[in-house]
Amino acid sequence: MKELELACEQFRTLLSEQLERVAKMNDEKVDYSAKDVITIGIVAGDGIGPIIMDQAVRVLHKLLDDKIAAGKICIKTIEGLTIENRLRLGKPVPEDVLAQIKSCDVLLKGPTTTPMGGKMESANVTLRRELDLYANVRPVCIPEEGIDWVFYRENTEGEYVLGSRGVELPGMAVDFKVTTDAGTRRIARAAFEYARQNGKNRVSIVTKANIMKKTDGKFTAICHEVAENYPGITADDWYIDIMTANLVNPAIRNQFQVFVLPNLYGDIITDEAAQIQGGVGTAGSANIGDRYAMFEAIHGSAPRMLEEGLGDYANPASILKAEAMLLRHICCAEEAQKLEAALAACKTVVTGDANGATCQSYADSLMELL
Ligand code: NAD
Repeated sequence: MKELELACEQFRTLLSEQLERVAKMNDEKVDYSAKDVITIGIVAGDGIGPIIMDQAVRVLHKLLDDKIAAGKICIKTIEGLTIENRLRLGKPVPEDVLAQIKSCDVLLKGPTTTPMGGKMESANVTLRRELDLYANVRPVCIPEEGIDWVFYRENTEGEYVLGSRGVELPGMAVDFKVTTDAGTRRIARAAFEYARQNGKNRVSIVTKANIMKKTDGKFTAICHEVAENYPGITADDWYIDIMTANLVNPAIRNQFQVFVLPNLYGDIITDEAAQIQGGVGTAGSANIGDRYAMFEAIHGSAPRMLEEGLGDYANPASILKAEAMLLRHICCAEEAQKLEAALAACKTVVTGDANGATCQSYADSLMELL
């Protein structure tokens, strides 16, 4: 069958590309404390993105204006990563936009819309691959319940790396999942390093290795290999199905600390975790690589909020939490701590509808606390 031959040929190409990707991985990390100028790129995004980002940029200026005036930090607005421009050019991240992004050190990014179906890859998947942002870090904290979770989701492999490049034969469709030794080792190291540096004694490895024996089996085995270098930190194995139940079980959920997971499970379970914390509007996320890093809310562009005229009621807390992570990442720990304290103390309630405060009035109250 001609289709079968074409599919086998495509599979060969995909495997070669993945082998090349792994061969290019290296562990050279940028040292922000040694840089003269750190450039923060600002990408507004789609839907509610520009609304929450306006407030996030206001807060960023308030916190960093001294360092900006001293020439230590540069804030650069990046245009063109809109769904209209991306569709017009047929590119998830147009080349000129990618070049602007690569001229920055870190990004604060509003959510971007991905068209359902079709061939257009998500801008995030493209950026994570192009900037090699392998660790997606998502903290969820509910102090009154003793919950202090940090999720380390592998961000460049799994089901996503070839998510737009599956094959179709008559009556059948196949997608691919990729797990590499080097890709797993670096996310495992990031999770265990975080645990070590933050006094945590448990890292939970979450997979479906009983079913996905090759890929998740490898992920589990390599995480345990890495764990051997971290005496005093327990590495325990869980399947993703029971872990989704554990997170809503108040009897045990506060015993978990750090999680390390392949891409898709991490994507799904962190939305559940954010919902437990108060909704997707309340959680920030960091996409960390060795050279670049990108910080964003965990939610999407919420087009329905705009259609219903509720855009101004979008909660900026998630992008502001991401902003605090960005500040910490670029060695502005004092500013990060100020923002985290203000976020914890801010009593203005945003509900996502006209019953709560607007995005702007939340930011006004927060600015008074800074
Ligand atoms: P979504 O997260 O955009 O919205 C789901 C619901 O969550 C909304 O209807 C709204 O009720 C609520 N919500 C989201 N953000 C909120 C906020 N700041 N304040 C208050 N309520 C908020 O999810 P979706 O509808 O599945 O996705 C919409 C688009 O966003 C899709 O195109 C999707 O691909 C994209 N997306 C982008 C990112 C990203 O850029 N990082 C992440 C997820 C989804």
